[in-house]
Parts: sequence; structure tokens; C-alpha cells
Amino acid sequence: MAKLVDSKETIAVLQKTNFQFKKQFGQNFLIDSSVLEHILSFSEINKDDLIIEIGPGIGTLTEALCERAGFVVAIEIDDKLIPILEENLSAKDNFKLIHGDALKVDYLSLLEEHKEFSSVKVVANLPYYITTPILMDLLEKKLPLKSITVMVQKEVALRMKAAPGTKDYGALSLAVQYYSEPSIVQEVPPHCFIPRPNVSSSVIHLRLHKKAPVSVQDPALLFKTIKFSFMQRRKTLVNALASGFHLDKKQLQDLLSSLSYPENVRGETLSLADFSLISDGIREILS
Ligand code: SAM
Repeated sequence: MAKLVDSKETIAVLQKTNFQFKKQFGQNFLIDSSVLEHILSFSEINKDDLIIEIGPGIGTLTEALCERAGFVVAIEIDDKLIPILEENLSAKDNFKLIHGDALKVDYLSLLEEHKEFSSVKVVANLPYYITTPILMDLLEKKLPLKSITVMVQKEVALRMKAAPGTKDYGALSLAVQYYSEPSIVQEVPPHCFIPRPNVSSSVIHLRLHKKAPVSVQDPALLFKTIKFSFMQRRKTLVNALASGFHLDKKQLQDLLSSLSYPENVRGETLSLADFSLISDGIREILS
């Protein structure tokens, strides 16, 4: 059974090693066993899985992951945590630690090294200061991942899951939903961590699509269209796209009316399918 999640055990490890938390690394260690169980059960880990964990801390989640998964690769940036992790996980023979920045890891080579595992999942309590870049990096690389189950700031989870026309909806919702189906597993209050973060957290589970949910001719142009549409929220879609793509407003007005959108339509109300149609239309204009 996982022991490190116990708050007394965590404090004992931290005191023994004289560990000082580093705010710049987003260090909030999990000390609640029911949250740990939720993360494990939603990620549906079994011995056929290779698990990638980003930011193992002192190894709380890692220890439990090693008990269930075929193999666990954990990536930790903080030098001071490396000897602690090596000691806490010394009994595990299905574990590899990478000392480095998760944003700089070559994930394709990492998967190649462990190609005997056909099922790859990411499970982590992410450092909040780089949640979006880490998730977008993993999704955009189109790695053969089955799922991503992560603790993130509650607001970020709401934005990932948001539907058109709601206040949290934006470029992040569309990007995440292009690659995956998000579900919010659990809201997690600050007292489940040491030290306590200033914000609430949520565990979110992203089940990666095998096939994109929309067919679009140029996915890179789709993301550019989405980015320009949400960059200046106060502008109408026509104005935002005209300035983003340096296009004539009239051409865009004609495109939107040919697709039956009102002249003053705003990006906040449009679905992924709507953006795909608009992006294909912009592709025609640009060609
Ligand atoms: N998994 C542990 C737990 O649940 O108790 C720790 C989670 S803590 C929120 C985030 C962890 O990510 C810390 O251990 C921190 O040092 C590490 N970290 C921060 N930035 C990182 C980066 N760029 N690459 C890898 N690890 C990072």
C-alpha cells in the first residue's frame, strides 16, 4: 500500500532531508489518500501500461503508480528531490527517474525506449505554472497516448471542459477538445496539499481521440483561426480574423454569410465544427 501520501510520512521525509519548498516549481505535495485513489481509479492503470509522471515530488503518486503499472517514468526538475526519490523508490524495479524539465523531454524517444508497452498514459499532479504548455506539448506532439489524468488548477479544468457560449470557453477548450474528451473527476480543496495552494484544484481526465472529432483540411490553420478569434475578445469575429490574417473584411463577411453566420458573430459562440468550416473557407481565400 502507498505510504507516502500520509501527511505525517510526508513531513517526516521533508524534515529528514531538510527540504525547502520552491515556489517557482509549483511544489504542492498531495497528502490526501482518497484523492490519490480517485486519480488511480480514473486512470485505470494496469500492468500493460507505461505511465509517464510529470513532477513526482517526493514520490507520493509514483509509489502508488509503480504498484499498479507495468513501468513508470517520472520527470522531476528539482535537484534536491532526486536523492529523495531515489531513496523512496529504491525498492521498485519498474521505475525510471529522469532529472530534467518536462517541457524539454524527447517523448518520442522515451516511448521508443519502452516500446514493449502498447498502452501509454500520463498521470500527474502538475506544477500549475506550466500546466497549459505541458498539456499542449503532449497533445500537439500527437504521441500515442491513451489518456492524461492530471491535477490542475480548478479554473484551468473548467476552461478545458467548457462548452460554446459559456464564460470559460475559449482557445484552450477548443484545443483540448480537438485532441481529447475531457471529464472533471473531482474538485480538490487546498487542505489536501502541503503547502496549501491559494487556489482550488481539480483532477481532470482526458481520453484521447483516436480520430479527430472534426475533419478539417489544415489543422494548423484551424488553430491559427481559433487563436486569432479569441485574441481580441471584444472584437467581432470578422474584425479579429481580418486583423489576424491581414485579410480584407469584405472577403471574411462574404465567407461568414455564405456559411450562414450572422455578420456580428463572436468566436465565443462557435463550436469546433464551426471553426473547422471557417478555417477551410479561409484556406480557400488564402490560396
Ligand atoms: N507529484 C507530487 C505530489 O503529488 O505530491 C508533486 C506535485 S507538485 C504539484 C509539482 C512537481 O513538479 C514538483 O515536484 C516540482 O518540483 C515539479 N516540477 C516543476 N516544474 C517542473 C518541470 N518543468 N519539469 C519537471 N518537473 C517539474
